[in-house]
Amino acid sequence: MTKTADALVIGGGLNGLSAALQLARRGLRVALLERARVGRHASGASAAGVRTLGRARAELPVSLAAMEMWHEIEDLVGDDCGFHADGQLRVAETDAELDKLRDRVNGLRQDGFTHEEIVDTAELRALVPALAPHCVGGAFARRDGAADPHRTLGAFLRAALEAGVVVHEGVGVSRLERRGGAWRASDGGDWFEAPLVVNAAGAWGGQIASMAGDYIPLELPMAPMMIVTERIAPFVRPTVGAHGRKLSFKQTSQGTLLIGGGQPGRPDLQNERSEVDVRLLAKSAAAALALFPGIGSLRIVRSWAGLEAKTSDDLAIAGLSASAPGMMHLFGFSGHGFQPAPAFGVAAAELLLDGRSRFDLSGLTPQRLMQPSMVRRPAPSEANVESYL
Ligand SMILES: Cc1cc2nc3c(=O)[nH]c(=O)nc-3n(C[C@H](O)[C@H](O)[C@H](O)COP(=O)(O)OP(=O)(O)OC[C@H]3O[C@@H](n4cnc5c(N)ncnc54)[C@H](O)[C@@H]3O)c2cc1C
Repeated sequence: MTKTADALVIGGGLNGLSAALQLARRGLRVALLERARVGRHASGASAAGVRTLGRARAELPVSLAAMEMWHEIEDLVGDDCGFHADGQLRVAETDAELDKLRDRVNGLRQDGFTHEEIVDTAELRALVPALAPHCVGGAFARRDGAADPHRTLGAFLRAALEAGVVVHEGVGVSRLERRGGAWRASDGGDWFEAPLVVNAAGAWGGQIASMAGDYIPLELPMAPMMIVTERIAPFVRPTVGAHGRKLSFKQTSQGTLLIGGGQPGRPDLQNERSEVDVRLLAKSAAAALALFPGIGSLRIVRSWAGLEAKTSDDLAIAGLSASAPGMMHLFGFSGHGFQPAPAFGVAAAELLLDGRSRFDLSGLTPQRLMQPSMVRRPAPSEANVESYL
């Protein structure tokens, strides 16, 4: 049986939901195809940091636009998504580190970006009194913050459904072909047909791209790990990172501490799972302890790792295919694709329907990663898909 729509979105993470929502609000009939269930992978495993701090220049336009959307998120999806704007802080532990942060902030200012500022030792203490005494200052983005990932996913899902998106869970696209001016996707059962497709398949985005004939080389997938502690009384409001360590540290509204920062677990793309590496997890805990000496006796109650595609330049892939008509690639977020998702949804709808976006995505095109000989192969087939996997 063939089900028709105006647009197919492959992948039910936050970026797929956001794209589906915006396409539906532009009046399209949208079918979202999700292999497992909505939020099963990176978006459901995310630390949900809403961070412009430290973003690469190429991602700044869309990230800053998304930050404005986060501050009005209830208008967008009818729920506050647990978002609170307590700021994100990158701590310097030495004067040399502080100089590096200052150089970055000055460079941003020269280019007209004012979202990051330097805080001195006194302001650092005022912002986070519990920080270790050796910390000398930091870079701070006041409008940044954090959200609740599951509440966010629920809100985007509800909004998408209300806008008319039809969500098909348990549909893992294994075939994608173009016939008669339309794309046809199937998991081996039903076919779904539409002229437009958003490839928001997360860690498997490269596989979907290859089915469309676009060969986008990626690094090995990431499996960033997280630790959650028992609940304690409120003691830190901003999300705290460190210039010289892999660390992201925040306290949730329930009182638990959420500790991450990118120490890698073990990815297993084929079996759609990832494992925690306890040795490296200990490094995450040690980094947190170095900055917050008072947390040493807390119990860890849970840890996990999530799967995410990684590009060679650590930048997202967000753009139309140069060779597969009606195909928008939206993946490769390299560990930081939660925050910009509201704006990437808008960008996907604009690119597919208007051919251009209000956001400058020129540094995020799929083409930047493709070798000339890889831009398109003649006829996508099961055979060349296999060779890519
Ligand atoms: C531990 C961790 C912490 C993070 N912390 C932050 C943070 O603080 N701030 C931030 O901005 N970002 C963070 N990120 C990154 C962020 O969560 C991701 O970049 C973002 O959620 C990616 O969303 P997505 O929709 O593109 O991908 P996903 O949420 O992975 O969704 C992709 C979906 O596609 C589906 N799919 C795959 N193949 C197919 C197929 N063939 N057919 C149908 N469906 C398919 C998958 O099942 C999956 O549900 C973190 C990530 C992790 C893992």
